[in-house]
Amino acid sequence: MGEKLIYMDHAATTYVKPQVVEAMLPFFTEKFGNASSIYTIGRESKKAIEESREKVSDAIGAQAREIFFTGSGTEADNWAIKGVAYANKSKGNHIITTNIEHHAVLHTCQYLENDGFEVTYLPVDENGLVTPQQVADAIKPNTILITIMFANNEIGTIQPIAEIGAIAKEKGIYFHTDAVQAIGNIAINVKDMNIDLMSMSAHKFYGPKGVGALYVRKGVKLVSFIHGGAQERGRRASTENIPAIVGFGKAIELATANLDEYNKKIMALRDRTIDEITKKIPFVKLNGHREKRLPGNVNLSFQFIEGESLLLMLDMKGIAASSGSACTSGSLDPSHVLLAIGLPHEIAHGSLRLTFGDENTDEDVNKLLEVLPVIVERLREMSPLYENVKRGNKNV
Ligand SMILES: *Cc1c(COP(=O)(O)O)cnc(C)c1O
Repeated sequence: MGEKLIYMDHAATTYVKPQVVEAMLPFFTEKFGNASSIYTIGRESKKAIEESREKVSDAIGAQAREIFFTGSGTEADNWAIKGVAYANKSKGNHIITTNIEHHAVLHTCQYLENDGFEVTYLPVDENGLVTPQQVADAIKPNTILITIMFANNEIGTIQPIAEIGAIAKEKGIYFHTDAVQAIGNIAINVKDMNIDLMSMSAHKFYGPKGVGALYVRKGVKLVSFIHGGAQERGRRASTENIPAIVGFGKAIELATANLDEYNKKIMALRDRTIDEITKKIPFVKLNGHREKRLPGNVNLSFQFIEGESLLLMLDMKGIAASSGSACTSGSLDPSHVLLAIGLPHEIAHGSLRLTFGDENTDEDVNKLLEVLPVIVERLREMSPLYENVKRGNKNV
């Protein structure tokens, strides 16, 4: 070992900030009370949850009573989509989404298709964008829900959420957005953007893993799935994970307070990386929209190589990155997102996602720019197709 880990995979997860850990710690030890208990340490736990709820609602322009803590972003997505679908079945059975959603949304929609619901998967353009017009055109008399992610976890493309929200509101259709990648990177006001339901997860913005939240606008009809006690106002039973909820609150507070500064910093790392790599390395393509893009996201396809080999060789140099998303790495299928933006299989296979965060520095990028061209060249030397290209045969 010896070499410092250069972590460039913040879209997969982040470390937990020391201030967040510090806020959480007392709730493991001296303040361990069950929030449903009436004695002092119980009431303290209850108070900590409600303070956290306020931090979340303040961060997104909601009311505290519209925030429900869950066990993850995945759970929030499942709850929002299935919850609206089953609660509004008598009004219709049609759901609109896109074909680049996270699996937490896609697989939930597929599950509902097996249970009598009808789902429209809107295609995206070569930058990964859907247009508000596409959404408007897909609406039918039986449409009950539009679920479109705020920003894509693989290619970083940011959707026109406020415009889609306005259409949904005008048509009286519920609008859910998976904002797991957006929170902590983009200023979000759920009222201004006409968002009815929104999923969040703490471990993408320097909070702990295993805690999420769902914003549910007051008045939205939603069924519950976790039945039991009266926690979360009777809508999501089970003893609250108080340290995690406290961590969520602290993390979202820190993220929103430092948003501009943080974005400026990681955007500079992103732009320098994109500019230099596309300059230094031939046969490379940037995936996702150049401007409507998460501030820390770089996604590149390198022709003539395998993303997995690239990741392993970067790892040997102490650089942690991803190809596709963490969930799809390890399988041989290319990412559904890269295929949806029109990349051929072999190019989708040669993709690399670098997502910058808090602890990344210019030196980290220097190191990446030093090792990546060498690795890419070495891998390409093993490719017969690349040999042809080097011999001047441009018909590849
Ligand atoms: C990470 C992620 C999720 C899942 O959140 P978990 O808390 O890990 O379950 C859902 N959607 C998107 C866009 C994500 O990036």
